[in-house]
Amino acid sequence: MTSPIIIAVDGYSSTGKSTFAKAIASELGYIYIDTGAMYRAVTLLAVRSSLAGAGQTIDFDGLRKILYGKPAVEISFRTSGPGSVSETWLDGENVERSIRTLEISRLVSYVAAEPFVRDYVDNRLREIGAAKGVVMDGRDIGTAVFPDAELKIFMTARPEVRARRRYEEMRSRGRENVTYEDILSNLSERDYIDTHRAVAPLRRADDAVLLDNSDMSVEDQIVWFRNILKERHLCGF
Ligand code: C5P
Repeated sequence: MTSPIIIAVDGYSSTGKSTFAKAIASELGYIYIDTGAMYRAVTLLAVRSSLAGAGQTIDFDGLRKILYGKPAVEISFRTSGPGSVSETWLDGENVERSIRTLEISRLVSYVAAEPFVRDYVDNRLREIGAAKGVVMDGRDIGTAVFPDAELKIFMTARPEVRARRRYEEMRSRGRENVTYEDILSNLSERDYIDTHRAVAPLRRADDAVLLDNSDMSVEDQIVWFRNILKERHLCGF
């Protein structure tokens, strides 16, 4: 086995990044980090602190004070036992479900565009990734957080395929009141904000391998990934 590496999985919203990233982390015995969950947890913090108003207005001065206040806000990932999935915790509370609502999805890209929020999250991610042996999924991992990551993958899929997958996932979690149209419009809006923001916009790093999984199953993607590892002589394959 070669020494552990950092694998950056970036791409558009709902392209199946987390499913793919979890699967390859488990294949390699690596830690999986869902970086979007950190932005979602900061957004939840803003909502709960009554700093998010109607029409996507957010009191960023108030949010900065809380985020960098004393005691500092603690966002972490924990598993409840071997083999269980990692869940997001905010100041001692499991918020995994609360960060996945459409309300948070509607606000999160505005919060994530704020430079002090990105600094806060980036610092935390660099601490977590320092020991390597991690798969991180997000929007700017290969371009801004770990520009020297040994392997970068950029994921995309057709918008209708992405919206259909997210819709089915939300319905299966009992969110009966969401419509396919709501989800498609939320994805398009987040794509626009994520690719147009001033700081660390979503883009494919020059050295990232493209994975369009519109017509691929998860198994197909794993086969694709094993081939990439072999071609590049990475991780002992
Ligand atoms: O991955 P997920 O869809 O949960 O991410 C939520 C939002 O967090 C994205 O729409 C994006 O605005 C932001 N994000 C980001 N940079 C990352 C991960 C997520 O800006 N590395």
